[in-house]
Amino acid sequence: MADWKTRTKLIHAGARRSQYGEMSEAIYLTQGFVYESAEQAEARFIESGPDEFIYARYGNPTVRMFEERMAAIEGTEDAFATASGMAAVNGALTSMLKAGDHVVAARALFGSCLYVLEILGRFGVDVTLVDGTDPDQWRAAMRPDTKAVFLESVSNPTLEVIDVKSVCEIAHGVGAIVIVDNVFATPTFSKAVELGADVIVYSATKHIDGGGRCLGGVVCGSKAYIRKVLEPYLKHTGAALSPFNAWVMLKGLETLDLRVKAQAANSLALAEALEGHEKLARVIYPGLRGHAQHGIAMEQMGAGGTVVTLEVKGGQAGAFRFLNALEIVKISNNLGDAKSIITHPATTTHQRLPADQKAMLGITPGLVRLSVGIEDAGDLLADLRQALDAV
Ligand SMILES: *Cc1c(COP(=O)(O)O)cnc(C)c1O
Repeated sequence: MADWKTRTKLIHAGARRSQYGEMSEAIYLTQGFVYESAEQAEARFIESGPDEFIYARYGNPTVRMFEERMAAIEGTEDAFATASGMAAVNGALTSMLKAGDHVVAARALFGSCLYVLEILGRFGVDVTLVDGTDPDQWRAAMRPDTKAVFLESVSNPTLEVIDVKSVCEIAHGVGAIVIVDNVFATPTFSKAVELGADVIVYSATKHIDGGGRCLGGVVCGSKAYIRKVLEPYLKHTGAALSPFNAWVMLKGLETLDLRVKAQAANSLALAEALEGHEKLARVIYPGLRGHAQHGIAMEQMGAGGTVVTLEVKGGQAGAFRFLNALEIVKISNNLGDAKSIITHPATTTHQRLPADQKAMLGITPGLVRLSVGIEDAGDLLADLRQALDAV
């Protein structure tokens, strides 16, 4: 399996077949497992083998298939699945931190990720936020007690691309572990391990499901981190992924590469076609040459991703008129779906942030985040253009 290319791993890695030889992965919808004897139960609680399970909060065969497939495609030794992307972010950080530790994080983060950092602060973890695109700020923030570095490789919703390789070099200089929330990069374009990341986190809710069905998350990393640091925390605190949701994610992974590449191609076509549109103040897409981190994006992802952020002229009123006139593109706050989805961050996903923080992050009243789906690019462009006419 080690020689398989990603497309093959996405279909076959981690598969476990029962005695029935089922083609499609089985859903083991069970929380418990029956032991043949009391001695076997005792032995399993001391140490479980790879095909031995105890309780679905600790692990489940369908969930394990998803974890092994994710580790195989991400290139890490192991992975642990969670009930949502936020359970993965929270688990990755909280499992390894204690009062008195220091964390450095990029300031441009998904609202819920910022909230997790706030919670850590309440428990005595010291958090420093930096402009993730400025290596000098990362360097200046590092301390001998810096235990973890947290960043979104491509930020939501302003699509700043962080130079993961240089941040890893800086963080490793003080012995900190680098945790990368890689949702916007997607597993398809991820080279996080190669760039030096220690722990990679995904919300599987996004591209991995790809059909807007289930919540899920996964943390990928070394065996030592996943089994000795993360698993004890997660298995006792209860953020286990449902076996049914794991099965949906396994099915999603089968088509991930096809979908994400089609979404990225659509995104580039739309970004290029809309650049300079008279109703738009800005078109932000890492795949465009004019993007401030275009070079880094190409180096560390080889593509611009599946999200295009637009700044509509006329502020919030302009943005709302644009959203309300769309016919194919749906107003919602998920992303990575096969369907194109548009969000107004200032009033939804980032509503909670005070005005000055929104301004600092570039979340202006006219900003809209477009998660590009796999519909026909021409139809999408026509929809966006007719809606811009309404602005
Ligand atoms: C959606 C998202 C999350 C949270 O994932 P859920 O599955 O919704 O809990 C975390 N980080 C980023 C960058 C996201 O886009």
